[in-house]
Amino acid sequence: MAVGVAALAVVRRKLGADHARESAAIALASGLLDANRDCLKVLDTDGKVLRVSEHGAALMEAESPEELDGADWLNFWTGEHQSAAAEAWTNALAGRSTSFTGSCATTKGSPKWWNSTLTPVVGDDGAVVALLCASEDVTRQSTLLETLREQNELMHEMESHVRLVFYSSSPSFEHFYHVSSGVERVFGISPELLHSAPTAWLDLVLADDLEPLLAEMRRIVEGSAEGSFKYRIRRPDGCLRWIKSTAYPVRDDSGSVVRFVGISEDVTVEHERLTALNRLAYTDALTGLANRGALIRQMKALCKQEVAFGLMFIDLDRFKVLNDTLGHTAADRMLKDIAKVIQETFPADACVARLGGDEFAVIVSGVSDRATLGTLAKSLLEVLYSGARKDTAGAFVTASIGISLYPDHGRNHEALLTSADIAMYAAKKGGRNGFRFADKAVSDVLGDFELERGLPTALAAGQFVLHFQGIHEPVSLAVKSLEALVRWNHPTRGMVGPGSFIPILEESGFIVDVGAWVLDAALAQLAKWRAAGQKRLCMSVNVSARQLRDDAIVTVIDNGLRKYQLPPRCLEVELTESALMENPTLAQETLMSLKRLGVRIAIDDFGTGYSSLRYLADFSPDTVKIDRCFTARLGRDQANASIVRGIIEMAHELGIKVTAEGVETMEQLHILRDASCDYVQGFLLTEPMNADSLAGSQYQVAMPQR
Ligand code: C2E
Ligand code: MG
Ligand code: MG
Repeated sequence: MAVGVAALAVVRRKLGADHARESAAIALASGLLDANRDCLKVLDTDGKVLRVSEHGAALMEAESPEELDGADWLNFWTGEHQSAAAEAWTNALAGRSTSFTGSCATTKGSPKWWNSTLTPVVGDDGAVVALLCASEDVTRQSTLLETLREQNELMHEMESHVRLVFYSSSPSFEHFYHVSSGVERVFGISPELLHSAPTAWLDLVLADDLEPLLAEMRRIVEGSAEGSFKYRIRRPDGCLRWIKSTAYPVRDDSGSVVRFVGISEDVTVEHERLTALNRLAYTDALTGLANRGALIRQMKALCKQEVAFGLMFIDLDRFKVLNDTLGHTAADRMLKDIAKVIQETFPADACVARLGGDEFAVIVSGVSDRATLGTLAKSLLEVLYSGARKDTAGAFVTASIGISLYPDHGRNHEALLTSADIAMYAAKKGGRNGFRFADKAVSDVLGDFELERGLPTALAAGQFVLHFQGIHEPVSLAVKSLEALVRWNHPTRGMVGPGSFIPILEESGFIVDVGAWVLDAALAQLAKWRAAGQKRLCMSVNVSARQLRDDAIVTVIDNGLRKYQLPPRCLEVELTESALMENPTLAQETLMSLKRLGVRIAIDDFGTGYSSLRYLADFSPDTVKIDRCFTARLGRDQANASIVRGIIEMAHELGIKVTAEGVETMEQLHILRDASCDYVQGFLLTEPMNADSLAGSQYQVAMPQR
């Protein structure tokens, strides 16, 4: 306390008042000293502490003010803080009150920040006699400021190193409170520009994306909701980038939105990766066409927009046979080739997809009339057929096409796919290499069901009949043989052709029984004609793949020949290429048994499958029957004529006879004659007819008595 009194004495002297004033002043000064919240110290001109206020001592963590008496004030400070303190000290000694901020430790060693003001106390002679030091403890504020500064630095470092834009904007996006420096890299514009022209970034957005972006922003503002938007910008340097922006509303206590904060980032790389993945997910790997998923996606979109479109379901005919005989690599090459042909045939905006295997589908958008779709289907069939696939040993491709129309045949993709599929199936049943519209197909399929119901009893009810068609020698036109062609004399439908029921018979297995009946009836008829004088007349009978599966057919034929006492050479069994290819080993075994019997073998519809003659020669047929679609093009198409000539020559080299089917014109007949075709068959010469009509026809006379 002694030093404290001494200090007060200095003050008292400075006041230089009378006693009463003096004691009042002392009391006041003392009171002020202790009332003050700062750390108040009186220092002598050597810098020694004369007196420190009670509160000041507490701030310095001293036990009592006395603990600090005589302490060297300048020694409180260290380093840069000491320099600041020394400068202030010098100023104050020179009579100028000076403030500085610095850190010095308490008596306990804990660092504290102080805002100190040194005020000189001047004596009567004008000289500085003491100094008053008021230090405000600003440790809390300083720590706070330091933390803020660090955070700011961190934020700044983050903002300037990541490829993101952090922003905060007014609740209506009218101006930005803050835009991080990342905007330079992401958008290519400066934060300053956005502060002066807050819509400058919208000028970069591509026209197509602007309206949806603004709509989303409006939704966010009006709904005070969070949201995100993806859009493209053209940066000032010309780069096109994908940007994703998010916005989150920040609310005050009352719940109203005070600002939006969010992030904008460049997602171009991610977008490109997604697009590539998407492309993979919606692409057929083999052909590069769209896949089923992509087709369905597009159909869904069109159904939603309610725009008319046509769907074509394309299935290659007998592709399995091709796959088995050519091998997968060649078949794959062929599928790729066909994919290209389909794409080239349809308008550029059509969606061409491969659904798997040999199934393709095409969406022709904006088309609602059948004529256009029919023309497109027809030209595809033409192109497929005319383009003998060079890479696959000249194999010919035909396809069956089913067509459905939105909205006529369905209002969703499932209904449309199903009806196109049914139509395709109907096109197959109708003989392949053709197209059907869904409505027609449905009635066909319904008709199929009706036929199917009647089939099991048809045989017992004696409803099957045989018609016969002549197979002629091309120059004399003499009938060498007759082909037995089955018909179903249906109780309500009248005469039904084999195309409508043979497939059903094959599927159900009834073909075995019906086939046995055909053989018996044909041989019976042949025996009659031979007995009536046509001694060398032969008979051709068609046999299905299903009938080749076991050797029951061998027994049936053997029994028939014996029953009617016919020489085996007068029977020729006609098998289609595909029937042989369905199970080549099994077919070959049965064929061998038939050959041992002495029965002749013909390959029917030659050229419509994919097998080469060389391959078929393994079955050592006696005859090949060139399919009528080749005959039909004779005289119209040079390439086709040379193919036919080639087949005939090669067959002859292998010792095989050739019959041309479907001869309808004299021109075709002449070409075939010139090409040394062995036999001809067709409407030009005989139409299939029943035995009685045939007996009465001109060929009764022409039949040679060889
Ligand atoms: P396929 O063996 O190729 O018989 C020839 C078909 O062509 C017959 O049709 C015949 O009427 C037709 N045709 C003959 N000449 C001409 C012509 O100049 N122009 C045209 N456009 N067509 C002509 P059909 O009778 O409708 O027989 C179709 C197919 O049904 C036959 O084709 C054959 O594969 C099958 N088929 C017929 N009868 C039987 C049978 O009893 N059993 C088995 N499994 N299949 C049979
Ligand atoms: Mg035939
Ligand atoms: Mg044929």
